[in-house]
Amino acid sequence: MKRLSIRARITLWFSVALILSVALTYFVILSVSRQIIQKTIRDDLVKTVEDNVDEIEYFSSIDLEDLENDVDFFIRYGDGYIEVDDDFLDEVNGVYTSLCQSDGALVYGENPIILESEGLGFADSQTNRVTLDHTLYYIYDRELEAEGLEGLWLRGVVSEAQGEAELSAISRYSLIILPSLVILAIIGGYQIARRALLPIRKIAETAGRISRGDDLKERIELGEGDDELHQLAEQFNEMFARLESSFQAQQQFISDASHELRTPVTVISAQCELTLDEEREPEEYKKALETIQRQSRKMNRLIRHMLDFARLELSPERYARERLNLSEMVCDICEDMALIREKGIALSCEARQDVYVCGNRELLTRLLTNLISNAYRYGKPDGHIRVTLTSDENGAALLVEDDGIGIAGKDLPNIFHRFYQADASRSDGGNGLGLAMVKEIVTFHGGEISVDSSPGRGSRFSVYLPK
Ligand code: ADP
Repeated sequence: MKRLSIRARITLWFSVALILSVALTYFVILSVSRQIIQKTIRDDLVKTVEDNVDEIEYFSSIDLEDLENDVDFFIRYGDGYIEVDDDFLDEVNGVYTSLCQSDGALVYGENPIILESEGLGFADSQTNRVTLDHTLYYIYDRELEAEGLEGLWLRGVVSEAQGEAELSAISRYSLIILPSLVILAIIGGYQIARRALLPIRKIAETAGRISRGDDLKERIELGEGDDELHQLAEQFNEMFARLESSFQAQQQFISDASHELRTPVTVISAQCELTLDEEREPEEYKKALETIQRQSRKMNRLIRHMLDFARLELSPERYARERLNLSEMVCDICEDMALIREKGIALSCEARQDVYVCGNRELLTRLLTNLISNAYRYGKPDGHIRVTLTSDENGAALLVEDDGIGIAGKDLPNIFHRFYQADASRSDGGNGLGLAMVKEIVTFHGGEISVDSSPGRGSRFSVYLPK
């Protein structure tokens, strides 16, 4: 089954959660409102009845003239009269008050359930909840205590349905407002999720185009911002930049290598054609073979160097590291290479004793050999090469100094690049891979290399290797 998109899942989850909480809110509103309304009804009932208590008086005798002129209501009761004040509220806000005898007989007022409540005994100052004819009522009874009124009761009655109108209004409003809020929130949430996830789609599309190989130069453009997605896009862009530059370096390496290999191959094939063109003297054959031998050695060296790079890059695990005595190694190499004495150059070595590093013997030998070979190659006649080894608590520092031709400032940033030669005519059989290999070996050991040089004054290569 196809999984829903993140945006759809977020919106769905958010909507369900919202609908549930709104439904819960609706029920809470209804139940709280119901309780408040019913309490108000009960309070109203008690208050109305209690207010009416004072509106009833008893008179044992009364002036007939008064009877005619008075706005109050008079009821003959026993030997006297009951006066019901005109302020007596027999029906207000659905609350009915009636004046009854203790057997339930109605004396005055209104009671909508007089028939149904017949036989329902009186309970002084109490609110009771009774169901009569499928309707709920609150009934509040109050015994009259004034002189002459003994045995009379005021009974207040209010239907519980009295609050239904308010409750259904609250319910109606809630049912209109709450779902509208839910719909608005869902639409808003969907838009926000859409907008928030838009950059992810951009990132995916750009990564897709780059991985299809359309254009390595392409970058993710998200505009201004510093949120998580912008940081992600930035990381991706940095990764693309690294991919692009390593891809370019790879391309450059292939094209440089093919170029370097083409020259000896062309020379060999031209030499063969020329020599085999006609019958030649043995001396001429010898010369031709010597040229071919020189070119094939050059090719061989180039191929070996290229293989070394490939090995170091693709399977560095082939070069196991061990704790080795760098002092001994440096002294041995210098001793051997001092025998070269090319161009009358002298090699001296000054190595602190027992400097240990964790490294690969074969690679470190290659590193020092390459640096010393260069010092010979670019050294001036009767010059001097000085190799120094020192150490501190973190690692070893190796210096290879010469007083040769030096390197121009413009070439310094490039000399560690593969196939870069400041002046190929002076390189004498070099192929521009020596320093690149040195740099690769230093990186493999987690170290650093720097060069200090000026034309005509010589060069100093400093290598730092951690312990
Ligand atoms: P190459 O095979 O040409 O020597 P390298 O990678 O060893 O290649 O060196 C790159 C370039 O750096 C050389 O062509 C040379 O111009 C310059 N170079 C390296 N070492 C020295 C040095 N000790 N003195 C002067 N120039 C140097």
